[in-house]
Parts: sequence; C-alpha cells; structure tokens
Amino acid sequence: MLNALTFLTRDCPRACDYCAIRDAKDVGTELTTKQWKEAFRILKSLDIDFNLILGNETWLLKDSLIEIMQYNQVPYALYTTCPEPLFSKYRDKMFKVIDNLSCGVDWPLSYLEKKDVLVEDSEKKSLDAWRGFQWFKKHHPEMDCQGTVTIHRGNVELLPSIINELSQLEVFVGVNFIQWNKDGNFDFFPPKEELDGLIISENSYAVLDEVFKQVLQRPGLLQNPEMLQESPIKLLSMGWHCGGNPYGGPTIDSDGSLRVCGYRKGYNTTRFSIFDLPQYAKDWQRAVYRDARNCPGCAWSYPWMFHYWSGRDSEMGNKVFTKHAGHHISKKKWAKRKLEG
Ligand code: SF4
Repeated sequence: MLNALTFLTRDCPRACDYCAIRDAKDVGTELTTKQWKEAFRILKSLDIDFNLILGNETWLLKDSLIEIMQYNQVPYALYTTCPEPLFSKYRDKMFKVIDNLSCGVDWPLSYLEKKDVLVEDSEKKSLDAWRGFQWFKKHHPEMDCQGTVTIHRGNVELLPSIINELSQLEVFVGVNFIQWNKDGNFDFFPPKEELDGLIISENSYAVLDEVFKQVLQRPGLLQNPEMLQESPIKLLSMGWHCGGNPYGGPTIDSDGSLRVCGYRKGYNTTRFSIFDLPQYAKDWQRAVYRDARNCPGCAWSYPWMFHYWSGRDSEMGNKVFTKHAGHHISKKKWAKRKLEG
C-alpha cells in the first residue's frame, strides 16, 4: 500500500483556530493546471494507491480543479469546506467529475441548529459541511460523503452525537485529534499557547477514555475505530510515531516541492520536487526518513491508519481508504467510487 498527500492550494476563505497551514510563508508559486496534471501522472506511474487531496480550499481553483481531476487516475479523497456562494455555483459541475465530498465537521447538526449565532469558523465550516451532505443525499444519494472530526476540549463529549448524526445520514466519519506545533517544525499547527481553549488537559484523559468506550459500542460509519483503542494519553500527547515512513508515498506542496508529511515540511525532503521523484525515488525516501526521524511524534489518523492496516492486511487497508470499508460496516454500505484504481 502506497498513499500520498497533496496540497493543491494554500488559499482558504476560513480561519479555523487549529489550522496554521494557510499562513505558510515559505511556499513558492503554486503549480499551474498543466503542471498538476503532470504531477498526478507521476503519482499514477509510481503506483500510488490513494491520494489525500487537501487545500486549503480546493474549490478556489474552480474550473482548473475540474480539469485536473478529469485527468487524475489515482483514487483519492478531495477535501472542501463547501464555501458559499462557490459551493452552490459549482457543485453540479464539480461532481460530474469529483467522486466524493470530504469535509471537516466538528459539531453535531443538532448542536449547531440550536445556536442563534455561529461565532467560530469551525462552527460555520461544520454547518456548511452539513448542508453540503444534506444536498448530496437528496440530489446524488450514491455520492460518497465523509466528514472528519477534529476532537478538542470544546467538542470531545459531543463526539458520540457527531458520529451518530453523520452515520444516520449515511456519511462516513474519520476522527482526528487536536495537535500543536510541538517543536517549531509543524507548519500545519499553531503553537500550543494559541490553542489554549482547545487542547484537552491531562485531567480530561478519563473523559476521553469514556467517550472512546461509548463510540466503540456504536461506531456507526466511523472509518478508524481501531485508532480509538490506542491509549488516550499517547494520542493527546502526540506520542505516536511513523518510524520514518509517514504513508508510503510522497507529500506534494502547492508549489510542487515535496514535504516529509502533511504536518511537517522537513529539511532534506524539500530539496526534491514531484517532478524529480521518478529519477530520485531512493534519495527522496532517505530524505523523508531522516526528516521524519527528527519529528517528536504526532496523533494523526492518516499515517496511523496506514501503519495499522499495512502491518495487518494491506488489501483491506486499501479498501478502508478508497471505499470507507470496515469490518464493522456491512459490505453493501462501502462507498462506490468512479475511480477505484
Ligand atoms: S510522526 Fe511521522 S507522520 Fe507524524 S508528524 Fe511526524 S513525520 Fe509526520
């Protein structure tokens, strides 16, 4: 199993508290549509099984995104925050080509609907995602929909409700954890001081343990229940490590340079671009290994799941990524995708 990750653009209309990737200053000019098509051709030639395509907001590329995705041959999940009015204007056109809707959802719909005013960007982003899912379930019920929850101090006790409500709408769910810029080299996150109200303190580990138990009794369409069997202390202290191999394949930044992983730029890996990869694959791999070994660790679900499944059953793992399969989910419910590798 070889997975990749791509940042198509750093632009974003949102300003979620726990994300700093939009603020990156040391990224060059973004690749053109023609260059992205070549980059995606290279991923296919390297036998990449799955590409997690992040933005920040991929839909800001508008018609170029359609052109790139029309050309793409690698199974993928493409993240969007369903920003309006762009989402309503483009959704019919986009989903003639894109075969999934993948969003961040940090709150249950029932909770958001009770609020008079949404203040936080993560609340607005979540409500737009819910509206996007509802629209798709009405107009294109066959479309694969997936919501990723970032667990933090504010929403941890609502996790069972978020999972239940998404599962009832037949939306797959991934769970991830609040993380911070631990050693100054995680450009994906702000420093801990800026996440004061969101980081789950040691006193709340027991709460998290209890929440995990509740979720595991009714996992619904949760994509990574296996990860909730990890120790909460390990996850909340960013104490897991990929061992020098985040997820098998490359991480491409919006300017075409390679990163050690989605969370960290690295030092050695950035000497390579996606266009160098076919020729310098071994050197790139050594660079990733050296950069990743210098990382203090994370609690990121994407590499965690990659390691969990590639160590046990990589064929099933591939289906977990490409179809949202799971031993706890009836096969009839696994997603059907246009592009299946
Ligand atoms: S442990 Fe590995 S996957 Fe996690 S942030 Fe560090 S380098 Fe990336």
